[in-house]
Amino acid sequence: MEQVIIIGTGCAGYTAAIYTARANLQPLLLSGTQPGGQLTTTTEVENFPGHPDGIMGPELMMRMQAQAEKFGSRIAFAQVDSVQHMDDGTFTLTAGSETYQTQTLIVATGAAPRHLGLPNEKSLIGHGLTSCATCDGAFYRNVPVCVIGGGDSACEEASFLTRFASKVYLIHRREELRASKIMADRALANPKIEPIWNSTVREYLTDERGEMRAVLLENLINGETRELEVACVFVAIGHVPNSKFLGELVDLDENGYIIQHAGRTATKTPGLFAAGDVADHYYRQAITAAGQGCAAALEAERYLADME
Ligand code: NAP
Repeated sequence: MEQVIIIGTGCAGYTAAIYTARANLQPLLLSGTQPGGQLTTTTEVENFPGHPDGIMGPELMMRMQAQAEKFGSRIAFAQVDSVQHMDDGTFTLTAGSETYQTQTLIVATGAAPRHLGLPNEKSLIGHGLTSCATCDGAFYRNVPVCVIGGGDSACEEASFLTRFASKVYLIHRREELRASKIMADRALANPKIEPIWNSTVREYLTDERGEMRAVLLENLINGETRELEVACVFVAIGHVPNSKFLGELVDLDENGYIIQHAGRTATKTPGLFAAGDVADHYYRQAITAAGQGCAAALEAERYLADME
């Protein structure tokens, strides 16, 4: 029986591990299909405090892993399929043919940015394809870029990108934005943002170095296609929180994000805590996820102390 299992090895998971390990709880971390989380898919991280010269996303995650292991965290690869809350208040996790038992559970499984599903998108991430304007916008100064999507995220990303890019195309599949009026109005009033309505991206086109060069656009009304030159594509068509495997143990909002209780990382199930992007559609930053990982660790620690 473990005292703490942490599912997820992004910023929230590793921070929870550092804290619970330093509290002598010997946490077991279970990493899913993307060890290191979303930051392993980005390049330079310039906004994580303590790194004035920036740090590469994968390196930051390796350093967090080393820090977690230094204090006794153990890491195992396991894709958790389901979690059962037992009569004695403990949890049984099933991952393929393996089972794990724990007194407390910290869920830090993150949220995966939704993508269009185009053939070459995996290889383009970090080479002109991203889902994070805050992370990557500053790399695209005085060049045209585009944002795909019509929600609050797309409008927010587009507005943010006007600080750097020469032009921001906002590509939406309909002719009305889904975003809240205030966000939509702000984006559409910005002279650097040009909306492209009723259109979808059919292909990502690359240059000889494999970097994004343009997108092939299709007008969904008349079927016409054209190339649009952009140095980077920011995909903002929503995120998919990795929360389904928890079933009834947590309350989810309408987008699948775990609802935290009492303004903390607690959930409706005692002993089960949620931290980071799986429970946060609002900030979605490495540093806020790390902060929640710390909070979840402190809550798990207090929960265990109260049980004794
Ligand atoms: P969202 O509201 O679900 O919007 C996703 C957008 O992507 C929609 O416009 C949708 O088009 C489009 N889309 C989805 N699948 C697509 C596809 N396959 N191809 C092309 N377009 C596609 O997601 P979000 O903008 O990330 O926002 C998620 C939640 O966070 C919302 O509740 C939002 O209000 C909130 N949020 C709030 C703030 C803020 O208040 N500061 C900032 C960001 C997000 P359709 O419109 O045609 O469906």
